[in-house]
Amino acid sequence: MSFVDKTLKCRDCGNEFVFTAGEQEFFQQKGLLNQPARCPACRALRRQAAGGGSRSERAPREMHTVICAECGQEAKVPFLPRNDRPVYCSSCYDKARVARR
Ligand SMILES: [Zn+2]
Ligand SMILES: [Zn+2]
Repeated sequence: MSFVDKTLKCRDCGNEFVFTAGEQEFFQQKGLLNQPARCPACRALRRQAAGGGSRSERAPREMHTVICAECGQEAKVPFLPRNDRPVYCSSCYDKARVARR
């Protein structure tokens, strides 16, 4: 079965966009029967408006500034450090991890 690029009209902005053969195949593999109602730009906008974001994209995480227990430099970590654990900057963390093996 082969697919051919289709031109669809966006429900939101009314612009035409291409629903490519590759996307159609992807939709079919996923078992999605509907074709996209919106152009990629509007889909991205809606995703942003939803606030959640998808897992495939890297959402900026809240970073916490800590002092590295090894080299004493400021480092940013994507988690809230606990007082009972030493926190390392990324390079010291890598070194510590390698040393533990
Ligand atoms: Zn649109
Ligand atoms: Zn360090």
